[in-house]
Amino acid sequence: MAGYDYDLFVIGGGSGGVRAARVAAALGKRVGIAEEYRFGGTCVIRGCVPKKLYVYASQFPEHFADAAGYGWTVPEASFNWQTLVANKDREIARLEAIYKKNVEGSGGETFHSRAMIIDPHVVHLLDGDRTVTADQILIATGGRPAAHPALPGHEHCIFSNEAFDLKELPKAIMIEGGGYIAVEFANIFHGLGVDTTLVYRGKEILSRFDMDLRRTLHETMEKKGIKILCHAVSEWVRKRPDGRLDAHLTSGQTLTVDQVMLAIGRVPNTENMGLEGIGIEMTAAGAIKVDDYSRANVDNIWAIGDVTNRVQLTPVAIHEAMCFVETAFKDNPTAPDHDTIATAVFSQPEIGTVGLSEDEAVKRFADIEIYRASFRPMRHTLSGRDEKMLMKLVVDGASRKVLGAHILGPDAGEMAQLLGIPLKAGLTKDDFDRTMAVHPTASEELVTMYKPTYRVKDGQRV
Ligand SMILES: Cc1cc2nc3c(=O)[nH]c(=O)nc-3n(C[C@H](O)[C@H](O)[C@H](O)COP(=O)(O)OP(=O)(O)OC[C@H]3O[C@@H](n4cnc5c(N)ncnc54)[C@H](O)[C@@H]3O)c2cc1C
Repeated sequence: MAGYDYDLFVIGGGSGGVRAARVAAALGKRVGIAEEYRFGGTCVIRGCVPKKLYVYASQFPEHFADAAGYGWTVPEASFNWQTLVANKDREIARLEAIYKKNVEGSGGETFHSRAMIIDPHVVHLLDGDRTVTADQILIATGGRPAAHPALPGHEHCIFSNEAFDLKELPKAIMIEGGGYIAVEFANIFHGLGVDTTLVYRGKEILSRFDMDLRRTLHETMEKKGIKILCHAVSEWVRKRPDGRLDAHLTSGQTLTVDQVMLAIGRVPNTENMGLEGIGIEMTAAGAIKVDDYSRANVDNIWAIGDVTNRVQLTPVAIHEAMCFVETAFKDNPTAPDHDTIATAVFSQPEIGTVGLSEDEAVKRFADIEIYRASFRPMRHTLSGRDEKMLMKLVVDGASRKVLGAHILGPDAGEMAQLLGIPLKAGLTKDDFDRTMAVHPTASEELVTMYKPTYRVKDGQRV
């Protein structure tokens, strides 16, 4: 190993890459890491972090409106998009510096360069045109928004990357896609006062989430004024003489908007990295194929995070990084555990979810109990906001194990994090029932739904 420049060279300074580099360096390994854009990666620079800041920004109009019921008079509010973008930029620059410093502080060496692999132990750093050698190489290059070259006029469209840094806040936007990124941005733009239309080819937004939540969120978003067009895709986008865009849909409608944002999926960053040259196996979607321990088919090459297309979430990339370090450097082979991952959609209202949806549970278990509560949260009593909160537990009737917990409403993401613990631990509905409620909270419903709302036996609701 002494013959190599590094024990580990990491390509990609995002959530997974930075964690692996930092932890391996802290073990005393000689670590290098190359990042072609900005340390922090998608999550910090153009994903979770700026997204959540924009979610907060977009919630203020409802807070101002709700304040009246509590006795407050709020003067007419105004919003400045450029201020939000500048403040967001300052915060992500701060985080970016911390990410870089953490690697360097642990003894790792950082490179601002695109990297490619030219031999299983040789990395070419394009910036500065130099090569380095490494015993182990970790690919953590993440993904990017899927383009749509077949769409006439696609060159007029933006993706989530650009949406964060628009020069002007559009007056009207069309967002195409039904996944969490499309739904979150639809709520962000609507909250900031933009006339927003969500266009989705499927029958209901947010596939793979519990249908109850999907439908209720859809209804609530429409009630707020977001237009949602399902079973439709865009056929062409054209620039008008006035600079606005016409987007024509398969449903026959033509929308005139200032921006069209495509959020139709993400693709792994594996091109032009020399991977084919060294025989790295990839899936049809271009993701790196790895074994249970994140090792690629070339022995000293590993891959973690979005580039492997397993579960595209920051905590998953970080967990895979920790497992990789255990396996590669601590003689403790550790497979990442992708089971029962709690997650949130920062829509408005928010979704927090963990475990099986009702539909998934019904496919796998013969006797399912559903505990469901739909109610107006206390905070909306005086505010007068006509919005319901939904809580749902999916329980295996035979073992009493809680298989899924699904929440729609304020702070649902925070609740999902905590519900992740009992579900991961395999606790039963009886454990939930034995737990004292915290009063008055919305989450107390989770431990006070004593009788099933309905059962599903052999696929039939009874
Ligand atoms: C809009 C949006 C919102 C999101 N919100 C959430 C959320 O709320 N919660 C959540 O858990 N996840 C969220 N995600 C997903 C999350 O950002 C990713 O799952 C996570 O960043 C993956 O980490 P990673 O290390 O695999 O890759 P990334 O963070 O994407 O890092 C990869 C890095 O590699 C660099 N790179 C690529 N190729 C090369 C090369 N050849 N040489 C050098 N560097 C290279 C890239 O520039 C990038 O910085 C969101 C994503 C998006 C797009």
